[in-house]
Amino acid sequence: MRDLKLPDQRHPEKAHRPDNAQPKKPSWIRVKAPGGEGYNQTRQIIREHKLSTVCEEAGCPNVGECWSQGHATMMIMGEVCTRACTFCNIATGKPPEALDAFEPGRVADAVKKLGLNHVVITSVDRDDIEDGGAEHFAQTIRAIRRQAPGTTIEILTPDFIRCDPSVLEIVVKAKPDVFNHNLETVPGLYPEVRPGARYFHSLRLLQRVKEMDPSIFTKSGIMVGLGENRQAVLQVMEDMRAADIDFLTIGQYLQPTPKHHAVDRFVTPEEFASYEKSAYGKGFLMVSATPLTRSSYHAGDDFARLRAARQAKLARG
Ligand code: SF4
Repeated sequence: MRDLKLPDQRHPEKAHRPDNAQPKKPSWIRVKAPGGEGYNQTRQIIREHKLSTVCEEAGCPNVGECWSQGHATMMIMGEVCTRACTFCNIATGKPPEALDAFEPGRVADAVKKLGLNHVVITSVDRDDIEDGGAEHFAQTIRAIRRQAPGTTIEILTPDFIRCDPSVLEIVVKAKPDVFNHNLETVPGLYPEVRPGARYFHSLRLLQRVKEMDPSIFTKSGIMVGLGENRQAVLQVMEDMRAADIDFLTIGQYLQPTPKHHAVDRFVTPEEFASYEKSAYGKGFLMVSATPLTRSSYHAGDDFARLRAARQAKLARG
């Protein structure tokens, strides 16, 4: 078994890459240090249930704030991802284990114990499994509905690009409240940032979710500071609206280790505010665009606002 604490073992495909210097973070990127009673309780529940979280595996800067409120984003289907995106700190390689049939039940039990109004469930990519883990997602949603019927459910899924297109129906039929799949960056940067994925496939995936069940909110996000320009970001917004995506998130890319994609620049808070304004102008129901925005950051509060925004839009006719 690899020691996932060692970067070379965690990212064997990145070990040969030259180091990219990690620039000093600007003053506007300041986070709460992990610790305190709420944080420790969340950590204990996650450990007791033998669950992985993207908060820890991706080295998310918001973990101190989110976990102090019990908001952990659980990562199902193991700790090893079959893709090798250059921005991501999740361990990569051939997953050593088959899917754990008891995991959906443990996730549901943890959601109940954490007392969450809203939960976000994500996963590693499992290109080694025929349905990409679609049935496992569906089982997890159903298990949470049984154990914690008052909790709304947001899923952040892989792209299922190597699967039969019909597997998407399995997930949609389980009726998550929010279906999120991140585009991550502008199409011109896909070959270097997200080499295993295809921009238009990801867009179409979200469009198909909406076509199959318009009651499900669709959500997607990108990171900025990877080398994109403003015009390309505005075009991504246009593409997302054409695919009927409801909710857009934009956050600053932070480089996990010297072996990861370099930070091109730190986008200023004023530029984020300008992106938010442009996105609302293009018709998104909800937009979160700040340096520390992540897909699951404040997802519970945002879901309540998303629902209110849809009702207000329907009332306007
Ligand atoms: S922003 Fe999301 S991934 Fe980061 S700590 Fe919060 S819940 Fe976890």
